[in-house]
Amino acid sequence: MKIICIGRNYLEHIHELNNSPSREILFFLKPETSIPIKNQPFFIPDFSNNIHHEVEIVLKINKTGKHIRKEFADKYFDEITIGLDFTARDVQNKLKNKNEPWEKAKAFDGSAPVGIFVDKNKFVDISKINFKLLINNKIKQVGNTSHMIHDFKSIISYVSKFITLKKGDLIFTGTPAGVGQVNKNDLLEGFIEEDKVLEIKIK
Ligand code: MG
Repeated sequence: MKIICIGRNYLEHIHELNNSPSREILFFLKPETSIPIKNQPFFIPDFSNNIHHEVEIVLKINKTGKHIRKEFADKYFDEITIGLDFTARDVQNKLKNKNEPWEKAKAFDGSAPVGIFVDKNKFVDISKINFKLLINNKIKQVGNTSHMIHDFKSIISYVSKFITLKKGDLIFTGTPAGVGQVNKNDLLEGFIEEDKVLEIKIK
């Protein structure tokens, strides 16, 4: 099982980090070990002083596919949830400056909590769903999938040109604006529309 994460998919988030939009879809991978053990809190790693939350809609791939055509791409996932693409922003900035890969900042243990998966057919139109992240009961990030630069179908089609998608693989589809630091004892809650699907404590 693998986790594929899309970067720079919401314009306002691109601007808040002073990045420029990439012409092609940007993606990177996280290993299976980035999923925390069930019900475990997120432990801030000792190599970073600035772990950021990035709330994202996550797709679960339901069958094997390679070179998937965009018009068939929605047949390759049935369920979605909220995930957190935890990022060691201080480490990432150093890596970016040296043009080095991002794994140390992105792929560490516990860096990809995912919520309870929900049937995508529960939603009238998944290209227009609201999602949000609350920290200690305050709204920190709000997104709507209609603001994605690359939609779910384009992402699946594009990624599958390079990497065979398999049942159980997860795709993080990018974060909207509002990323920021998490602190010890924070309680993070992720919602799709009004349903809470993710809860995790920071330690
Ligand atoms: Mg992200």
